[in-house]
Amino acid sequence: MMLIGAVCTIGGRSRVARRFFVPPAGVGDEFVNLPTELVHHLRSVLRLAVGVEVLLLDGCGGHYQCHLTDLTPQGGRAVIDNRWTETETALPVRLLQGVPKGDRFDLILQKGTELGISAFTPVWSQRSIPAPATGRDEKRLQRWQRIIAEAARQSRRPLLPSCAAPQPLASALATTGEELRLMLWEEGSQPLATALPQNRPRDVALLVGPEGGFSADEATAAVAAGFQPVHLGPRILRSETAGFAVSAILQYVYGDFGVR
Ligand code: SAM
Repeated sequence: MMLIGAVCTIGGRSRVARRFFVPPAGVGDEFVNLPTELVHHLRSVLRLAVGVEVLLLDGCGGHYQCHLTDLTPQGGRAVIDNRWTETETALPVRLLQGVPKGDRFDLILQKGTELGISAFTPVWSQRSIPAPATGRDEKRLQRWQRIIAEAARQSRRPLLPSCAAPQPLASALATTGEELRLMLWEEGSQPLATALPQNRPRDVALLVGPEGGFSADEATAAVAAGFQPVHLGPRILRSETAGFAVSAILQYVYGDFGVR
């Protein structure tokens, strides 16, 4: 984990720079209960001691400036000295991503979080490689959530993006109700620019295929679910690159890329 070691000032408020996400259920009126995994990290990796100031975030916008009071192998506690709420100005973008092979999805979660993605929905599609493995999904999901939390911490996001369990494309399509729904399909005839509305949409669903791309049947299903198939020009991008590129464009046009 990367440690940010300095105290910085944003918007006139002095901020403790060591920030960590904690489960909202552990936040009380005066104390925050620290999960054992975080206590282990604070004690054994960062070598922090009782009395040190930390900024704890509940992932829903709650910020708790605290000092550590208990750090034991059984768990820990921090006393809340100050609390406030922050929100995001980023455009809410859900990335429905065909799961690529190997550990490339880790990179998608990390960089997507930095780029302002608000939710990830990993999707199994006809050409996904490898075929869905059974029985390992829960462990894999927990690992993905840790990667997101670390990227959100490092990039100083006030909100923690969510990650759904991997699911077949048809199930994922059934969950979409975003105002703007874009499917990146290299065989589509509409360029991205013509699908972008004048005014900022309420939220966006962005569907990106795996290495093998989407089949025509899948494109038909996505269109039936309200997605506009758009192409990105003459170059075929890797699955992970395509999502990053469009996420950055969306945050630049409608969100907070380059704006504070
Ligand atoms: N099956 C394709 C092929 O071999 O020609 C390549 C698929 S591409 C590596 C993976 C995903 O990235 C696609 O399913 C699509 O969602 C997105 N993508 C990459 N380049 C694109 C482009 N030029 N236009 C639209 N989508 C693109």
